[in-house]
Amino acid sequence: MEELLERLLAECRPYAEQGQVAQYIPELAKGDPLSLGIYMIGCDGKHSWAGDCRKPFTIQSVVKPVLLLQALLDNGVEAVQSRVGVEATGKPFDAINAVDQPLSSGNLNPMVNMGAIVMCSLIHGDSYGERFERLLALTRRLAGNEEIGVDEDVYRSEKSHGSKNRALAYLLKSYGLLEGGVEEVLDCYFRACSIRVDCRDLANIGAALSNRGRLPVSNQRVFPSHLARYVNAVLMTCGMYNGSGEFAVRVGIPAKSGVAGGIMGVVPTRMGIGIYAPALDGKGNSLAGIQLLERLSRELYLSIF
Ligand code: GLU
Repeated sequence: MEELLERLLAECRPYAEQGQVAQYIPELAKGDPLSLGIYMIGCDGKHSWAGDCRKPFTIQSVVKPVLLLQALLDNGVEAVQSRVGVEATGKPFDAINAVDQPLSSGNLNPMVNMGAIVMCSLIHGDSYGERFERLLALTRRLAGNEEIGVDEDVYRSEKSHGSKNRALAYLLKSYGLLEGGVEEVLDCYFRACSIRVDCRDLANIGAALSNRGRLPVSNQRVFPSHLARYVNAVLMTCGMYNGSGEFAVRVGIPAKSGVAGGIMGVVPTRMGIGIYAPALDGKGNSLAGIQLLERLSRELYLSIF
């Protein structure tokens, strides 16, 4: 397996030069566009890796499936779905859905920012500090890594360049779709995006989702299997921003990307995959990362279709 991964990495490296590291948050612009790494964890517990797979980066939007899981665990499917729908938006992560659809709970989606901001407000806890700590604890548990923490520089950068997210949150508030204090919920969202992970962490989280809620090896259950089905379905239709349809055709697995260049892939009943390649395509997805996943999917018959 390692040989295959090294070969695919060599094939995909040139694509990294064609992408661009995210610029809209100054701290993200510091990412090395030529980094490329992959880590895979099978439901049988087998690990395989290659390249820059232990380099740390911020989780960004890959936290959205974890946020969704925490909201589902705290409130149940019905309550969450009544506040954040599941229909694909076909839009970029920071889209204001109101542009061509009425702004209502059913038109929000947990994989884009507006939906994710509402999900932060659904996490149980007496304060936003406590809610964030619970989200962080779930992230650590799924990743099997107690060392996971927040990148404070990225957090500060997110917060001071977060006008668009602020606008989205205030819009939600004005439509009665967000309860509680806007600045507190935003702070929780910015912190969530700034959680520092590596490819192995993402592969572990993906493996729990692929293993229907059980951690590989220990077989410990972290969440019920129907929630894995729920999250994976949303990932399949909306996990790759407005590139989700093309990704379904080219790769064919539930996955979530983030603007720092991470991708978490879930191959149901088989494996979790973590990828890092910070140079992005025009839709904000890791360019070399998708190339790598496309080749891997072809070689190992990963597509679920
Ligand atoms: N911190 C980012 C934002 O909301 C996350 C975006 C992403 O990874 O898609 O602006």
